[in-house]
Amino acid sequence: MKYVILLGDGMGDYPVEELGGRTPLQAAETPHIRRIAAAGRVQQIKTVPPGLPPGSDVCNLGLLGYDASKNYTGRAPIEAVGAGIQMNPDDVAFRCNLVTVNDGRMKDYSAGHITTDEATELISDLGRELETEGLTFHAGISYRHLVIWRDGPTDIRTQPPHDISDEPVEPHLPEGYRSEEVRMLMDRSRKVLNEHPVNKERIKAGKDPATQIWLWGQGRAMTLTPFSELHGLSGGIVTAVDLVRGIGVLAGLSTPVVPHATGFIDTNYEGKVQTSVELLKERDFVYVHVEAPDECGHMGDFELKTRAISDFDEKIVGPMWRALEESGEPYRLVIATDHRTPVSVRGHTPEPVPIAILEGPVGEVTEEADFDEFSSLGDNPVYSFDLISGVLKSDDRTSMGQIQA
Ligand SMILES: [Zn+2]
Repeated sequence: MKYVILLGDGMGDYPVEELGGRTPLQAAETPHIRRIAAAGRVQQIKTVPPGLPPGSDVCNLGLLGYDASKNYTGRAPIEAVGAGIQMNPDDVAFRCNLVTVNDGRMKDYSAGHITTDEATELISDLGRELETEGLTFHAGISYRHLVIWRDGPTDIRTQPPHDISDEPVEPHLPEGYRSEEVRMLMDRSRKVLNEHPVNKERIKAGKDPATQIWLWGQGRAMTLTPFSELHGLSGGIVTAVDLVRGIGVLAGLSTPVVPHATGFIDTNYEGKVQTSVELLKERDFVYVHVEAPDECGHMGDFELKTRAISDFDEKIVGPMWRALEESGEPYRLVIATDHRTPVSVRGHTPEPVPIAILEGPVGEVTEEADFDEFSSLGDNPVYSFDLISGVLKSDDRTSMGQIQA
């Protein structure tokens, strides 16, 4: 038996007026997903345990069968693992975005999707000016970087910058015990980045400069029960983003790097399919993660998001389903999204999202059924599904209401 989860990040949304009152998932061309929905089962699933934020980390953990309320320490420690950074027990990891703050507002959580070359130079200079004993900057990809801080503050509330687009930043600054140390680092980064040659060039080219760093998603090192122990399956995760790769590494799954996978609509879809099909020859399970719909949601671009979902159907779901059918082996194929990233919100929201489960092979399917935010709304949303049995589970999670991330 082969097990496959195809995950379009942030595909869920709300009805969009310009799409004739349809959601991007409804407006997109999704013939393969619609056939899978017709031949299989569709349910609404709650991916966010009560009291936890609707982050990709929490939601992807849940879809892989992990209870985030027990395992989760923060987003940054997962990304650190994904980036190959070793953390000691007294280390605290912070996600460090390069952002554009203009007139006190969060103009862009990605500093105009700044290039990795530009960002590497900025992070290196920030490191030189701001690093102290036990506090180090680690350059990542584009706007996504990390700070590792020995005995750094953990008892603070921080805000993902992609959830406060266009909002004043002041009410969203870190709060709680030792938060002033984090605020001070963010303040001091402004002086380093102001007048920086990289930023001067970007402004000259009409692009947004990286005006400061934004620290969030902090936590101590995290551990997970091996996936093989949890489900009795070998497998891998195919993704472009450090966060999901980090979950894979923590779960002891294989995490092959796909060349030119970007986490955006220009990603190497063929390469991801090829890598996933190869992986399935040796192993039982593959989780294919596609980031583009989420990024388009954060950009507030309903047209681009609709296209990203159509591309996901055409370039990932279609060929993966075909490969499973052609192998002739029994399989369980799951189409899922981790959470909603409504274009009108430009951030994540915690409402239920659809999931489709198909047991094959099924031969040719011509019938189509809806797969969207309104399918199977009559049934109560469930909290999780069991990868091995395919059973959708409706656990009582009311007792988890107290848990805070
Ligand atoms: Zn996500």
